[in-house]
Amino acid sequence: MKPALTPLPDPPRLLLGPGPSTMPPEIAAALSSPLVGHLDPLFLKIMDETQSLLRDLFRTSNRLTIPMSATGSGGMETCLVNLVEQGDRVVVGACGAFGARIAEGARRLGAEVFVVDAPWGTPVDPARFIAEIGARRPALAALVHAETSTGVLQPLDGIPEAARRADALLMVDCVTSLGGVPVDADGWPADALFSGSQKCLSCPPGLSPATFGERALAKIRARKTPVTSWYFDLSMLEKYWGTDRVYHHTAPISMVVALREGLALAFEEGLEARFARHARHRDALVAGVSALGLGLLVAPEHRLPMLTSVRVPDGVDDGAVRRRLLAAHAIEIGGGLGPLAGKVWRIGLMGHSSRPENVLRALSALGECLQEAGFRCDPREAAAAAEPLLRH
Ligand SMILES: *Cc1c(COP(=O)(O)O)cnc(C)c1O
Repeated sequence: MKPALTPLPDPPRLLLGPGPSTMPPEIAAALSSPLVGHLDPLFLKIMDETQSLLRDLFRTSNRLTIPMSATGSGGMETCLVNLVEQGDRVVVGACGAFGARIAEGARRLGAEVFVVDAPWGTPVDPARFIAEIGARRPALAALVHAETSTGVLQPLDGIPEAARRADALLMVDCVTSLGGVPVDADGWPADALFSGSQKCLSCPPGLSPATFGERALAKIRARKTPVTSWYFDLSMLEKYWGTDRVYHHTAPISMVVALREGLALAFEEGLEARFARHARHRDALVAGVSALGLGLLVAPEHRLPMLTSVRVPDGVDDGAVRRRLLAAHAIEIGGGLGPLAGKVWRIGLMGHSSRPENVLRALSALGECLQEAGFRCDPREAAAAAEPLLRH
């Protein structure tokens, strides 16, 4: 007898947290298409098309632009294990959980890590970061472009130039930014960038689009020691995704097909229109939560378009509201991490989740849950504040 399984939710969840985002039907269809073999000439064409679309999205001509068979953290690990050797100096900007994760990853590889931090809810000061690069002359400088744990967009002002002057590689975590705000690998320029399939590209989690420039490849070729991870060794992955197609591992075929579809959808919409849509819906959400009487963690000039951190009002139980949103309204939002636990809600409007009807649904459901929790607010006022900004 087949074991009884917990059924999946019906109606489906509306994913408005820090990722994953809600999957559009086109990607769901691509995911459930029949499998082709991973060395089938057809799949090789699918790999080529995926790489080409990824280059356009990262705005790069980097040959080594691939979806890593891993989540976003696997993309981070790939960058670190390939670009850092024991004893290397690494300067990391950390103003949230994901910057701290990079620092920890580098430490575990035996690097000498220098953290330039900033209070959660603010970006790392580019001037301080640049000064640290100048003082330490690291092998690698690393930053998070969109800090999903706080909702802050990191300005890069002058940082890429400073890294070049110091002969340091620049690595940028673009997990949440890619597909939601401009990412410009060649224009910045940055040497190693990684992302995730489940944030602004609205695919399931499982792939980490990543790109590596010539300076990064030169560092890998000049390594004194082999890369400690077999699976993430780019010198082998480069052959798998290159013209030789040397078997390395079985690509997660369905995920690659889904990612290719997600990328095609992004270009069908147009990148500028997509970035504008994320910003517009963020503005409407901000107007709505403000009308509910809620405060925001991040100053307007540093707010992410795809993730908004809203302060939990005094006397309201963060977890109880989120549980109620899920149970009664089928809406998932995120709670705070680390020092922000219990203090903020993180509302994501990423990729396919960033839609006018979702903004209104979130505001009305959150308003209702807050009223039930004894907080005085008017969900109709929130809708009235958001609606004009949603017209396009
Ligand atoms: C989600 C996220 C990650 C981690 O990605 P996983 O897919 O969860 O491994 C890393 N950095 C940032 C900025 C993220 O938002």
